[in-house]
Amino acid sequence: MDGFEKYNFDNDDDLDIDLEDDFLDIEDDVDDEFICDPEEYADGNEEKLLLMVRNLSKEFRQGSNRLQILNNVNLRMYSGEITALIGPSGSGKSTLLHILGLLDAPTSGQIFIGDCDVSRLPDKERTKLRNGHIGFVYQFHHLLPEFNAVENVALPLIIGGQNAKHAQDKAADLLEQLGLSHRLNHRPATLSGGEQQRVAIARALINDPYLLFADEPTGNLDPETSAEVFEILLKQVRNRGIGALIATHNMELANEMDRILEMRQGRVEAY
Ligand code: ADP
Ligand code: MG
Repeated sequence: MDGFEKYNFDNDDDLDIDLEDDFLDIEDDVDDEFICDPEEYADGNEEKLLLMVRNLSKEFRQGSNRLQILNNVNLRMYSGEITALIGPSGSGKSTLLHILGLLDAPTSGQIFIGDCDVSRLPDKERTKLRNGHIGFVYQFHHLLPEFNAVENVALPLIIGGQNAKHAQDKAADLLEQLGLSHRLNHRPATLSGGEQQRVAIARALINDPYLLFADEPTGNLDPETSAEVFEILLKQVRNRGIGALIATHNMELANEMDRILEMRQGRVEAY
């Protein structure tokens, strides 16, 4: 635990969005332009609308050029639904995932979680919401090299103000569920690619998120390991009833998910 001491985590607790209370309160004023018809995807009483994206656009400036990467994206995410996001390299998958994961801000448009437009939240509250309720898995694991597996996974809880011992116990339990009981004290450099991604998945799940975004999470792994890690990810997401959006190039993996969305010319369309 020595590694944690140099970090001064900000634990204040002033975010007043309570997802438990609010996430069903989105006003249901859907236009035809929404590609996800809630009637179509809401299965019985189980699925809840977790996130709604309205006319989301993103431009990047390059010198005097403006690159329109996302152009009026509309989509919805429901609890218990796993969605694949496909599209050629450069089509904007990572850009969209980063914005929905509250890691980047859109140029225009809205992202509703509950009745709150989270694209307009002040940075501090956005960070708090992200740390508390959103999991993100990157293509490359982005684990901190000086921490072992348990510490890497426990970190989001500790940043959220939880006791370090409790956080590490929970992290160890989760890593065991992901088949890593023999690797708890290993640093990332001593883990295989598949093991590193399993630790990264555990880190994304440790806060019991409602929403999970994964950006080609097995894109760097050989096909066999990729299939294995994907299976573990899908099982965890399904068991927890998380709403997930997962970018992949692999149609075999995309076909294992509940539906497929495709990025095309800056828009997201049903595949
Ligand atoms: P994908 O994940 O589908 O491969 P990306 O979202 O990474 O696509 O990128 C979409 C496009 O946006 C690419 O042309 C990329 O070069 C461009 N892009 C991404 N981030 C930036 C940035 N920060 N500044 C300028 N262009 C960017
Ligand atoms: Mg990408």
